[in-house]
Amino acid sequence: MARMKKQKPANMKRLFERARKSLVGGVNSPVRAFKSVGGTPLFVRSGTGAWIRGADGKSYVDFCLSWGPLMFGHARREIVAAAQTAMSHGSTFGAATEAEVVLAEKIKDALPSIELLRMTSSGTEAGMSAARAARAFTGRDLIIKFSGCYHGHMDSLLVAAGSGATTLGIPDSAGVPKAVAATTIVVPFNDLNAVENAFKKNKGKIAALFVEPIPANMGVVFPDDGFLEGLRRITKREKTLLVFDEVITGFRVAYGGAQTLYGIKPDLTVLGKIIGGGLPLAAYGGRRDVMSMIAPEGPAYQAGTLSGNPVAVAAGTAMLDLLKSENPYPRMEQLAEYYCEGLRGAAIAAGVPLRIQSVASMFTPFFLDGGEVTDYKSAMTADKKAYGRFFHGMLKGGVYLPPAQWEAAFVSYAHTDRELDFALAAALKALKNL
Ligand SMILES: *Cc1c(COP(=O)(O)O)cnc(C)c1O
Repeated sequence: MARMKKQKPANMKRLFERARKSLVGGVNSPVRAFKSVGGTPLFVRSGTGAWIRGADGKSYVDFCLSWGPLMFGHARREIVAAAQTAMSHGSTFGAATEAEVVLAEKIKDALPSIELLRMTSSGTEAGMSAARAARAFTGRDLIIKFSGCYHGHMDSLLVAAGSGATTLGIPDSAGVPKAVAATTIVVPFNDLNAVENAFKKNKGKIAALFVEPIPANMGVVFPDDGFLEGLRRITKREKTLLVFDEVITGFRVAYGGAQTLYGIKPDLTVLGKIIGGGLPLAAYGGRRDVMSMIAPEGPAYQAGTLSGNPVAVAAGTAMLDLLKSENPYPRMEQLAEYYCEGLRGAAIAAGVPLRIQSVASMFTPFFLDGGEVTDYKSAMTADKKAYGRFFHGMLKGGVYLPPAQWEAAFVSYAHTDRELDFALAAALKALKNL
């Protein structure tokens, strides 16, 4: 690999001031701006394995990992090589390639509920297009979603949307027409009665029910026993399409996503993050009859100049191949469990109330003194200020976390005991100084 030219450490405060003169809020996506935790955002120069290097010249163990795509950490050799090779053969054609067919076949192989799919460049686009496919297929307008679930920043799903919107205190974004927001019905997660009531009130009008099967955008929350099965049963009865947003959980909680873990077959699935191997690539797919509504087979239009981009497809294919050949899942779960157990111990030692919820290689430490977080309302009882202090304590100790309380943190296959013990030592100190 080409050696990077040695760069002088930058003053991050000055860099942020400069950034704000050209970029809205100094960033290209709001949660990066540290609004929730306060202080000056981290500017990153490079990453290898479990580590990133800041523009300040310091190294950090990374638990944010670009919000989920990096199963093998940063700059995994095979993924870099695949992207470099693809790039050298021409980066975009705006025409069909065999490589994107191969990736589509691999995705179908992993998620048998997907018969036909379409690739896009972001999870937002994929979710938006899944909603369009569902509306076109059913001839209905309304969509049910759960408060605290995030499905990208499309107008009609940006209601009680969790993630960055929650963090910034704008659960319902400005600029979304009332008429569009009115096509969305929001109900609490894990509440089948509320779902039944929504269907009762809107008989025959609901096109789709969107859900993160294991929500990660209000922090990691679990579906109660029977909840996802209940959603499947009700949507089937009401001829409403069940859409699993597996942008985070797909290829994360298992190679086949949460739908494989729970044995539930959604009508449509939205994918992103991991399937691009760290490049911009996402997809939506599912039942052949529903997906056939999309142009050119059907009347619902959806397109993209860079959709199925060859470099992203190469990186995504290399990612899926590595996941298959190395099966990192058991090891990653072990690493996450080790870290979460250590964190629990550190919290007890420091006398800080902390509830950690984890599944596979993702987890959220909720700063609260209470029982299980089961929905948006209980997630909101977490102390965002305490998280902010913890975040900065960790940053000082050389650990980078997601810069907001209501997010999932991740470990990668590149994390080892060394990084985890390093982070746990930092955590004990940060919690004691909370
Ligand atoms: C990240 C995310 C999205 C949006 O994907 P982008 O690529 O950021 O547009 C959608 N749904 C879920 C569950 C996500 O976590």
